[in-house]
Amino acid sequence: MIRALSLLVCCLPVLLSGCAKQDSLEHIKASGKLQVVSRNSPTTFFIDRGDPTGFEFTLAGLFAAELGVELVMTPAFSLADIFVTLDRGEADFAAAGLSLTGEREALYPHSSPYYQLRPQVVYRAGSYRPRQLKDVEDMSIVVLAGSSHSRSLEALKQGGFATLSWREVDEVDSMELLELVNTGDAELAVIDSNEFEVQQSLYPRLKVAFDLGSSQDMVWYLPPETDNASLLAALNEFLNRLAADGTLEKMKEEHFGHSQTVSRIGSHTFNRNMRKTLPQYQQLIEQVALEYQIEWPLLAAIAYQESYWDPQAESPTGVRGMMMLTVPTAKEVGVIDRLDPGQSLRGGARYLKQIKRRLPDDIYEPDRTYMALAAYNIGRGHLEDARLLTDRQGGDPHLWSDVMPRLPQLQNSKYYQTVRHGYARGQEAATYVQNIRHYRGILEWQDIARSKSLPPIETVDYLPSVIVGLKLQAL
Ligand code: GLU
Repeated sequence: MIRALSLLVCCLPVLLSGCAKQDSLEHIKASGKLQVVSRNSPTTFFIDRGDPTGFEFTLAGLFAAELGVELVMTPAFSLADIFVTLDRGEADFAAAGLSLTGEREALYPHSSPYYQLRPQVVYRAGSYRPRQLKDVEDMSIVVLAGSSHSRSLEALKQGGFATLSWREVDEVDSMELLELVNTGDAELAVIDSNEFEVQQSLYPRLKVAFDLGSSQDMVWYLPPETDNASLLAALNEFLNRLAADGTLEKMKEEHFGHSQTVSRIGSHTFNRNMRKTLPQYQQLIEQVALEYQIEWPLLAAIAYQESYWDPQAESPTGVRGMMMLTVPTAKEVGVIDRLDPGQSLRGGARYLKQIKRRLPDDIYEPDRTYMALAAYNIGRGHLEDARLLTDRQGGDPHLWSDVMPRLPQLQNSKYYQTVRHGYARGQEAATYVQNIRHYRGILEWQDIARSKSLPPIETVDYLPSVIVGLKLQAL
């Protein structure tokens, strides 16, 4: 009886509204929650030291914030599951680095594109490099099951490449595909260009053989048979606005931008050192990072950029030690023996914190860290000059993405004569920061990749409220 009553109460609003389904935007606002299905991968959504992050998470989070609701992002365990979730109406939309394909478009409403990506065929350097489709016909290829790439291969097979064959891997993260190519279990993988860029640092031997067709649009998909019209209009207005005002570009820079700067050789050497040298100092670095409240991958990345983790390092200009401190800097931060790795790391950490504290208050993270690193490399005066040039040229001196391209101008007399501190090796400072970001990314990925083999985690215990409800067995 009670059950029947509660059923009636539940159905009452539906009955009153003549059985019409509720408009999904209204439902989101009324429930205070935006339910988004995604997938767990470095380009979409992942947990970084306990906090959820990733391009899709950040973008969907901005949208949720504009609506004034909480974002609940749930990772699916296969691409097919993402669409099953939509079919069941269990998410308001899917944000998972999904390409727009004819087949999906016929079944699911979708947003305007927010990104263009090239599907790429990846191989291992040193093995046979195919240059075009007809070269891959007898090769072993892996793709993510249910991906746009498996559809493209199917279409090519029908279209004349009859002996084309491939294996579908039931995962959501293309890192699994790269792993197979890296170990020689497959010769080729087809993955999206941004995923390759971000993951390549972990697999420096892998390279792009060629692009598979032209670029594809990335879109958010909405559930079928739902009253989505106003949600879709809001999403499109949001995405188009962020594209027009440059926010999307900045987010791409932030999430994917640091991957291109370090050469393949640089990545290779880094990976070797990470295995051979870092273990000797990792505990010390983590300890110092904790003392100074810096993330350890950042401190480790600076130390690598400075000295390749060599406590005896020395430059012709007299800077020495793991953090390559000058005599005056060492004095300022209380370092007596520059060759002692613990003292050097502490001195460097203290110096970085000092610089960061002195930056203007209205420079926010993550730009604040990048600017502090640039100042650590060329000095605060020169950084201020580059910020001044940025301002003069109509850029925003609070943003690293605007200041970075102005740093090299400090080497050009046309510019450096107009600023207070004159010439500086600005290009070097820009590269310095980008390298550190890149190395830090690799170290963070190592951490995350390691934690993947852990047993399922009860995420509710440690995640912030935005993410409660997440089922993270894949991590
Ligand atoms: N963009 C692909 C898709 O929509 C997924 C990512 C990949 O396979 O690299 O299916």
